[in-house]
Amino acid sequence: MATSNCQSIIVPSESVAELFDALSALPRLTRCRKCDTELLHLDATFFSDDGKVWTLPVPFCSTCCLGEGAATNAA
Ligand SMILES: [Zn+2]
Repeated sequence: MATSNCQSIIVPSESVAELFDALSALPRLTRCRKCDTELLHLDATFFSDDGKVWTLPVPFCSTCCLGEGAATNAA
């Protein structure tokens, strides 16, 4: 029951290149700001229409994001 760890999103404008470059340079969050749980990261891949690709770790909190109706099986 592995969750997908690869999401692809088409980015329409090259103007976002600067945004993703900036996001790529940010340090990863390691702790949830709300509940201080250690964050998990999903790699999300973004494509621009001029062929650039970014793979960014998207942090999420297993407590805050999966709080309701989520499977409670630990990995
Ligand atoms: Zn949290």
